[in-house]
Amino acid sequence: MPQPTGPTVRIDKQACQSSGNCVDAAPDAFGFDEDQLGDARPGAAALPRERLLEIARRCPARCIALWEDGREIPFE
Ligand code: SF4
Repeated sequence: MPQPTGPTVRIDKQACQSSGNCVDAAPDAFGFDEDQLGDARPGAAALPRERLLEIARRCPARCIALWEDGREIPFE
């Protein structure tokens, strides 16, 4: 069975505030790395695009970017 392929999640670690909003919203898709910065997990690929966009919008640092077909998906 093919794996679901959603947008690619990129997190700007320099900007991350370690708020944990993304982790609270979707613990299967986001976690913390060894520096306690937000980190996308393989489960992120299984989340619907709209859900990922919602999580990205709620990031206080606006440091979650979603990419698809070589371009960044606008939030609005
Ligand atoms: S919501 Fe944004 S600032 Fe908070 S941990 Fe996740 S990536 Fe970092």
